[in-house]
Amino acid sequence: MEKDCIFCQIIQGEKQGDFVYQDNSVVAFKDQNPQAPVHILILPKNHIRSINDLSENDRPVISEMFLRAKEIASEMGIAQSGYKLVFNVERGGGQYVFHLHLHLIGGWQRKES
Ligand code: 5GP
Ligand code: ZN
Repeated sequence: MEKDCIFCQIIQGEKQGDFVYQDNSVVAFKDQNPQAPVHILILPKNHIRSINDLSENDRPVISEMFLRAKEIASEMGIAQSGYKLVFNVERGGGQYVFHLHLHLIGGWQRKES
């Protein structure tokens, strides 16, 4: 828990979050400013700043995040239509909240060509 981290505050229940999943190691909640009809953030409960800060010990939680992304995509009904999984890494990569999170983005209506 990092006192000044908004995602730690959401995980601790100090700030409102629209959760779609929680277990001992991972949480997922809706992005407050969605970039697509489905926009979910999947996070480790432990505070990790970014992909650059991952260590060998984090292998299980990273694996859990991807498996959970797959499950949530299925629950949201976008598994077959498709989606993006994105990590923004540090400022130059578009990261603004420095608590590791995986964006699950999808649900666009595509015209078939
Ligand atoms: P980043 O640019 O760091 O990869 O993504 C941060 C994401 O967190 C953005 O998509 C932004 O809309 C979202 N976000 C920022 N603050 C909050 C918040 O307090 N609650 C929720 N649910 N999402 C947030
Ligand atoms: Zn944090």
